Amino acid sequence: MASSVPPGSSKEKRQATPRPTALWWVLGGLLLLAIGQAYFLTPGGRQIPYSEFKALVRGGQVAEVAVGDTHIRGVLKSADEGGAAFSTTRIDDPKLVEDLDQAGVKYSGELVSRWLPEILGWVVPILLLIALWTFFFRRIGGAEGGVMSFARSKAKIFAEDDVKVSFQDVAGVDEAAEELREIVEFLKNPKKYTNLGGKIPKGVLLVGPPGTGKTLLARAVAGEAKVPFFSLSGSEFVEMFVGVGAARVRDLFSQAEAKAPCIVFIDELDALGKVRVQSPMGSHEEREQTLNQLLAEMDGFDPRKAIIIMAATNRPEVLDPALLRPGRFDRQVLVDKPDIKGREAVLRIHVKTVKLAPEVDLQKIAARTAGFAGADLANLVNEAALLAARRDKTAVGMAEFDEAIDRLIAGLEKKRVINQKEREIIAYHESGHAIVASALPGMDPVHKISIVARGFGALGYTMQLPTEDRYLMQKDDLVNQMTVLLGGRSAEEVALGAISTGAQNDLQRATDLARAMVTEWGMSDRVGVVHFDQGRRSRFLDVPMPAERGPYSEDTARLIDDEVKALVTGAHEAARRILREQRDMLERVTRRLLEKEVMEGDELREILSAEPAPQAS
Ligand code: ADP
Ligand code: MG
Ligand code: ZN
Repeated sequence: MASSVPPGSSKEKRQATPRPTALWWVLGGLLLLAIGQAYFLTPGGRQIPYSEFKALVRGGQVAEVAVGDTHIRGVLKSADEGGAAFSTTRIDDPKLVEDLDQAGVKYSGELVSRWLPEILGWVVPILLLIALWTFFFRRIGGAEGGVMSFARSKAKIFAEDDVKVSFQDVAGVDEAAEELREIVEFLKNPKKYTNLGGKIPKGVLLVGPPGTGKTLLARAVAGEAKVPFFSLSGSEFVEMFVGVGAARVRDLFSQAEAKAPCIVFIDELDALGKVRVQSPMGSHEEREQTLNQLLAEMDGFDPRKAIIIMAATNRPEVLDPALLRPGRFDRQVLVDKPDIKGREAVLRIHVKTVKLAPEVDLQKIAARTAGFAGADLANLVNEAALLAARRDKTAVGMAEFDEAIDRLIAGLEKKRVINQKEREIIAYHESGHAIVASALPGMDPVHKISIVARGFGALGYTMQLPTEDRYLMQKDDLVNQMTVLLGGRSAEEVALGAISTGAQNDLQRATDLARAMVTEWGMSDRVGVVHFDQGRRSRFLDVPMPAERGPYSEDTARLIDDEVKALVTGAHEAARRILREQRDMLERVTRRLLEKEVMEGDELREILSAEPAPQAS
C-alpha cells in the first residue's frame, strides 16, 4: 500500500489553514454597525433645516413635535410630498417653547431610545474589539484552543522518547561524562536508590564554554538511560506576554511528571535565570516570574519521582544564586574545552563519516588546534571535507585540514592588495614576534609565520604552538609572553625607526595581561598580594564586560596604573634589547618572509641556528 498517510498529517493541515471565516464575521459585524448607526441615530422622516422648521411652526403647519437632546422630530398637520414626518437638528433656541405655544403645537420632551444609540455607539465597538483581539490571539497561539490555552499550544514541548545519542558520541570531556554516568544509573533504576531512603539528585547544571558538547552530553544521558528527553531553551521561556513563560514551566513539569523517569533539559539557562534585579521599569518582570515558577516547580515535585532537570549555561556567573541552592541545581558539572588527547578523540568521532587520505594524522591536527572546542573541531572536519570536494579530490588530505585550520583560526583568506611598503612593515613586525618568541626561554615554539592578510584586521600572524596544554602560568612566563606581544612593534622601531598602527591589538593584549597580573594574580610587589575585584567577569566568553572599577581608592588606582605601565614598559625594553642584539637575524628572517610570505617553524629555526654572517668590519 503506497498511499499511507502519515499519522497526524490531516490534523496539521487543519491547523495550517488560516480561518478566514472569523475575519468575515468581524467585517460583517462592522458593516452592520455602520448601517445600524445610520438607521437608528438619525431620526426618521424628512430632514429639514431649522429655519424651515421655524417657518413651518409659525405658519401653523406643525401638529406635534418631540424635542430631543439633539434632534426635534415632528409631524405636519397635512402631509406634503415628503410625508408628514420630519426632523431637524436642534439649535439652542430659547424662544422655541414660546413659538410652539403661540402656534398651538403639541410638544413633549424626548428621552426614548437613548439606550439604543448608546449601545450601538460604544458597547458594540467594544464587543467587536474583543472579538478581534480573541481572533488575533488565536492566530498567534495556533489554531487549536482559545485564548487561555495558547501558552500550551505554543510551547512545542514534546518528549523525545528514543534519543539516539550515547556517551560514545562525546569525547574529550571524560570527567563530565564520568559524573553523568551516575545520573544515568539513577534514571535506569530509581527504586534501587530510593528504597534505601536516598534522594535522587534533582538538578544538574552543565557549565562550560560554548560548543564543548553540553547539549550533546545531556542528550547522551537520556540516550544511555533510555528515558524521555524534554528539551527547551531558556530563551524560549521568555515571551513578550507576561505569564506565558510561567505557564509554560507549569506545563512542562506536569508533562514531565506524567512521563517519569525522564530528563527535562533547559538549554541556555542564563537567558532565564539571570539574577533578579529591582528595576524601576519592571522590565524583567516576565523573566523573573518565569524563574520564580521554575524554582517553585523544582521545590514542589516529588523527589522520589525520577525526574532529573538538567540545564546548560556558559555564563554561570550571571545566574541567580537561588538556582544553585541545595535541592535545585546543586550539582554542577564542568564541561571544558578538550586537551590534546581529547581533541584527537573528538576528531576521530567526526571523521567517521568522512573519507580520509591515508596520510592524515589526527594527532598532528589535534596539536595544531589548541583552544578549539568540540564544535570547532566538528566544523573543521566539515570545512576540510568541503575544500577537498571543491578540489575534486577523492579523499580529504592533510593539505585540506591545514588550510581549514588556518581559515578557522584567522578567518578567510583575504584577497586584498597590500603595497610593498606595508608588506615590509608587516614582515618586520611578524619576524619580530617570531624572533623574540624564539629567544625567550619557556615560550611555545613558533609554528608558522605569515604575512598573508586574513580576516578582519589581521595583516599577518605568528602562530606559536604549545607542545602541551597548560593550566598554570608563572610570572616569568607571563612577562615573556608580554615581551613576545611587544616584539612586533619593537621590530618596527628597531628596523625602521618608525611605528605603525598595526600593533594595536598586541598592545591591548599586553596591557590586559599586565593589568590582570597586578590586580588579579597579585604579581606586583608594590601593589601586593591583593585581588582587586573588577566586577564579575564572564569566565568562558571573551566578551568584554562593562568596565567597572573595583572598590579601591584613587591612590590604589594610580598605583595599579603605574605598575601596569612599568610591566609593559619593561617588556617593551626587553623586546627591543633582544631585537637590537639580533638585528641581522631580524633582517634575514624578514627578507625570507617577504620572499615566501609564509614560513614554517622549522625553517625559522634553521635560519636562527645558522652561523651569523661574517661581520664586515
Ligand atoms: P554546547 O551545547 O556546549 O554549546 P553542543 O553540544 O551544542 O555544544 O555542540 C555542538 C556540536 O559540536 C555537537 O552537536 C557535536 O557535533 C560537536 N561537539 C561538541 N562537543 C563535542 C564533544 N565533546 N565530542 C564530540 N562532538 C562534540
Ligand atoms: Mg548548546
Ligand atoms: Zn603583532
